[in-house]
Amino acid sequence: MKVELEADKCVASGQCVLAAADVFDQDDDGIAILLAEEVGDALVDDVKEAVAVCPAAAIRLVQR
Ligand code: SF4
Repeated sequence: MKVELEADKCVASGQCVLAAADVFDQDDDGIAILLAEEVGDALVDDVKEAVAVCPAAAIRLVQR
């Protein structure tokens, strides 16, 4: 599945990194960075958790 991050919405809370450290990192200002735009089954649940906990609704998981 494809991970989409709207960095302009990000409020640098870091919740996505805690939920899915293999997929998200933060830059020097705390803004989220995508480490992987495609995730396999092993990481889908982690990304779903990141989507759920992101306070800015900046993350989407898209089926394709
Ligand atoms: S959880 Fe959302 S607001 Fe927080 S760092 Fe990640 S993308 Fe940004």
